[in-house]
Amino acid sequence: MNFKNVTIAGSGVLGSQIAFQSAFFGFNVSVYDINDGAIEAAKTRMESLKATYGEYFNDTEKAEKAFASLTYYTDLTQAVKDADIIVEAVPERIEIKQSFYENLGKVAPEKTIFASNSSTLLPSQFAQFTGRPEKFLALHFANSIWQNNTAEVMVHPGTEEQYVEQVADFARAINMIPFVLKKEQPGYILNTLLVPFLSAAMELWVKDIADPQTIDKNWMISTGAPRGPFAIYDVVGMETPYNLNLMRAEKDPAAKIVAEKIKREMIDQGKMGISTGEGFYKY
Ligand code: NAD
Repeated sequence: MNFKNVTIAGSGVLGSQIAFQSAFFGFNVSVYDINDGAIEAAKTRMESLKATYGEYFNDTEKAEKAFASLTYYTDLTQAVKDADIIVEAVPERIEIKQSFYENLGKVAPEKTIFASNSSTLLPSQFAQFTGRPEKFLALHFANSIWQNNTAEVMVHPGTEEQYVEQVADFARAINMIPFVLKKEQPGYILNTLLVPFLSAAMELWVKDIADPQTIDKNWMISTGAPRGPFAIYDVVGMETPYNLNLMRAEKDPAAKIVAEKIKREMIDQGKMGISTGEGFYKY
């Protein structure tokens, strides 16, 4: 792997973190977003990441340098003109990603590898639109990537092996721990395990089998895990489980009850998790 130039497309929550992480670990990073307003929002995020990285890695000078090295574009051709890899972190909407890859395939240099950070969509859904399916795969980060530094690398049937290794090497070079999946799996490894686990915990609470603290304590003592599911909910925040259950509620009446309980007992009380100082626990 001799990548130097990285382009991040979509500079929202995750895109800005991937961009900062790559710059902090020495890559030339171009940030692409759709308009000036989005770029301004990205710069504000980068300011905050500069402080986070300076503190977390105890190196404010390196964080300053990374911050100053970022370049921003609203023109896709310019943004990718010398990219070894582009990491796509545009919104999780099929039509947005599809048209993004159609445009990207036309303007990116031949050498550029395309990696998608999509959480729920599969690379095979977009491979045909990239114009280079052999150089396309998923590279999935978890939020707060400076500390939760896993990177799931997931191929589709047409990805060529050599690019999988190059992308895993790139992940290592930016201080991530890569996990390469042998085939496509919705939810990758982590969410395939985590989502049903968290849903089961919610079910125990909603059915009033036990309170969240008891459920967590049972899990921690029984398995030696440092946190139980409700402590994990406090990290994730209440918005995601609420929206997820609301979405399922149309088909599943049990999900409606879960959504209502989260709203009534958590969201309406301002208990959003660690971010507000209280969720299932106080911080
Ligand atoms: P976000 O809404 O915070 O950011 C999306 C960014 O994409 C915005 O800056 C927006 O202006 C930009 N954008 C919109 N249309 C675009 C286009 N056509 N071309 C380029 N940029 C465009 O979203 P996010 O939470 O950062 O999620 C982005 C991707 O990362 C999604 O695929 C999501 O599944 C994935 N992801 C998110 C998380 C998370 O915790 N938020 C974690 C892992 C993966």
